[in-house]
Amino acid sequence: GFPGTDIAGLTPAMRQIFAAKQQHPDCLVFARIGDFYELFYDDAILVARLLQLTLTARDREKKQPMCGVPYHAAEGYIQKLLRMGYKVALCEQIEDPKLTKTLVRREVTRVFTPGTAVDPGIAASESCWLASLALRGTGAGATAGLALMDLSTGEFRATEFTGPGAWAATVDELGRVKPLELLYASGGLGMAGAGPTGILPAFRDGAAKPKEDEGSGSLEAIRTKTALDDWVFTNDYALPLLQNQFKLHSLDGVGLAGHETAAVAAGAMLHYLRATKQGALEHIDGVRFYERSSCLELDAVSVRNLELVEPLFSGETAQTTLFYTLDACCTPMGKRLLRATLLRPASGLAEIGARLDAVGEAAGKLRQRETLRRSMDNVLDLERLLGRVAMDSAGPREVLSLAATLAALPGVVAAVREFKSARWQELATQVDILDDLHEMVAVVIAEDAPVSFADGNVIRAGVDAELDELRELSRSGRQALVAIEERERQRTGIGSLKVRFNSVFGYYLEVTKANAKSVPADYERKQTLVNAERFTTPELKDYESKILTAQDRSMEIERRIFGELRRQLLAAAPRMRETARCVAEIDLLACFAHLAALRGWVRPTIEEGGVLEFTGARHPVVERRMEESGMGRFVPNSVHLDAEGGPSIALITGPNMGGKSTYLRQAALLVIMAQCGCFVPAESMRVGLVDRIYTRIGASDNVARGRSTFMVEMTETAAILNTATSRSLVLLDEMGRGTATYDGLSLAWATVEYLHDRIGARTLFATHYHELTLLSEKLTRLRNLRVTVKETAAGIVFLHTVESGPASKSYGIEVARLAGLPQAVIGRAREVLKVHERAETQQVREAASASMQMTMFTPLSQRIVDRLGEIDVDEMTPREALNLLADLQREL
Ligand code: ADP
Repeated sequence: GFPGTDIAGLTPAMRQIFAAKQQHPDCLVFARIGDFYELFYDDAILVARLLQLTLTARDREKKQPMCGVPYHAAEGYIQKLLRMGYKVALCEQIEDPKLTKTLVRREVTRVFTPGTAVDPGIAASESCWLASLALRGTGAGATAGLALMDLSTGEFRATEFTGPGAWAATVDELGRVKPLELLYASGGLGMAGAGPTGILPAFRDGAAKPKEDEGSGSLEAIRTKTALDDWVFTNDYALPLLQNQFKLHSLDGVGLAGHETAAVAAGAMLHYLRATKQGALEHIDGVRFYERSSCLELDAVSVRNLELVEPLFSGETAQTTLFYTLDACCTPMGKRLLRATLLRPASGLAEIGARLDAVGEAAGKLRQRETLRRSMDNVLDLERLLGRVAMDSAGPREVLSLAATLAALPGVVAAVREFKSARWQELATQVDILDDLHEMVAVVIAEDAPVSFADGNVIRAGVDAELDELRELSRSGRQALVAIEERERQRTGIGSLKVRFNSVFGYYLEVTKANAKSVPADYERKQTLVNAERFTTPELKDYESKILTAQDRSMEIERRIFGELRRQLLAAAPRMRETARCVAEIDLLACFAHLAALRGWVRPTIEEGGVLEFTGARHPVVERRMEESGMGRFVPNSVHLDAEGGPSIALITGPNMGGKSTYLRQAALLVIMAQCGCFVPAESMRVGLVDRIYTRIGASDNVARGRSTFMVEMTETAAILNTATSRSLVLLDEMGRGTATYDGLSLAWATVEYLHDRIGARTLFATHYHELTLLSEKLTRLRNLRVTVKETAAGIVFLHTVESGPASKSYGIEVARLAGLPQAVIGRAREVLKVHERAETQQVREAASASMQMTMFTPLSQRIVDRLGEIDVDEMTPREALNLLADLQREL
């Protein structure tokens, strides 16, 4: 850090910077010195390394390492540090150095943190979440409150988890949301699981030094964790803060009554925004309670495995995600809503039905749909523009963009009115076209306003009489200067005489050295350069002060009017945010309709009950990628499960690369799409509402992270068996792979039985344990399915169709044969396989019947004994005996 005790030896300026560092020990302190921001001591050493800057020193002995960046380029450097997970405190000169003779005062004016500084490079479809976590109690009385805020859009919500699973649920939610920064109480406030073994070690050295990204793992993946004092998370402090901010009389109105822990988390977040001096933030107009269970629940593991919004392996293209495949949205709000909807599909029949109606209608009306989508072309990022206005980082052009977006709204509403379904009609009435605001901007801001406010001429002529006058004044003043230049050239006979301006000397007459002697006596010398002399005259001084005063004054007036406009816009922030929400949904429904029409997708039937049935279905992402790369056609397939009475478990066997995982994922994706209100790539689909999707898929990615694959797999499986319901959809792929064959098989076996007997959830189970197919003899609601292949001279061809029945076991040997292994080896391998199969089948069947305590089928050995008992060997011809032997062998 900074030097511990020898403050005495520091210059006064360094003492100020030292004080700033003490107040913000977890930040890199950027101290303004002249035209630079400088960093000192360890901050300097670290930043010089991270940003590849030159490390210098402030003193001769090199005891005060230092590095710096030019102040006008600081933003880019700060952004880089934020992306790496660091925080930056800006220590500014808060007095004008020109106006003070003594030491300029310096103070921290703003703290940039990854969760609060909006990265200008953020994708339109992404959110940047700041999270805050409040913990209470232990065990059954444990409660975790989680608040989330996206400063770029003003979205602010909070939720709560209670009971023994509270901590796990919180970690999972954090894993789904992926906040850029997490606030927590430094004392941890003692919740079981969050205590010494849980939250704290992960956090302890987190604040100032972000850890390397470990790829996943919900908490480790959050690079910036900020500990706040425990008192920030107390009811007495945090609740009034929240209530005052939003002028709430009680927590009822925002759904936070009875959810104090969530409210505390939200209050603590407001504290942090103040502590880091984020300004008034008028676009954050309220906080909303949300509940995870009010939607189709998808845990972090499933979100990841199913590649809903991000590719499974970072570094892969986003084209493997469902989000990418479905994103035909026209506006950034629509894109963000699509992403959010995929993570939280609906779980109410009425809601989904209304969306599907709307999508269906628009899918059938090409002309009206295209009109609607085109009407959104000029709709820019209303939420983020508003956010910039609120954070006072919006220039004139952005305010114009905001107005242009508002101007496009009537067209959107008119286009929506072309549709008759209830949801379209509702949305059309809910959109506030905000024409008063649009008018206001159009009247005040000049059409050709510059990017930067400092260039002036932002406010239209005719808005303010004094401003118009001042502008006229400086215009005529400048004309007068031109006249003066001309006149003085004539008077002095110096053709190269010029009237010029610079910010230090103001207006002056410039004459080359050679001509300096011809200058008249009334010229006052102002400055001597190598080749020229600069002069002024009383007349010039007079104009100068007129012009400069007029310019200063106009700038002041422009600022005032712009500030008023800004306040008026912000007063309408809640209306704008509501409109933005409606536009997002209009865009999303139009996007779904577009996809349905373009790709020929069908409307799914959503109902109560336990059916999961589709025919002619395709995996939307794989199908599209195959089409785009010309890799042939996706082979459609079907599924039929019914948690209420029909088969509830499908056990899928077949060779590697046969299409098992694709089939599993496809089922989950179609359910998610259907419950989002999207049409699906199938000939038909029927599904009883799913409450939760569980996936236990692929283990290879965990190996890379050095975690015990088997442990991870079992933890995930335990979560499924402990919490799935008869309305859930469970996908298990290659379970038990991480351990030896026999315990893996036994665990998979017992898991299937448990799912079948106790849970009854719709389950797709892909396995390489061929033995499991025997379970169909015992479990009445289990169906065997297999992915088909064709053996040809050229090799095995994967047909990718899924049909009923268990797969044959000898693919490995077939492949080996096709690869040209000597016939003797192939023959011998077949023999060995037979022996093993026989023994195994026998053992497995015994295990099965033992556990069932009844014999549902006759053991093979018994059948052979029976056949042998039936015949009379003396009566047989050698031929008949051979036939019998062949028969028996076929039985095996
Ligand atoms: P498995 O899980 O059985 O090893 P995968 O599901 O990973 O097999 O599929 C293997 C390959 O086959 C993938 O490249 C996939 O794109 C392709 N594939 C899977 N299902 C189909 C299908 N129905 N039609 C066409 N190609 C498919």
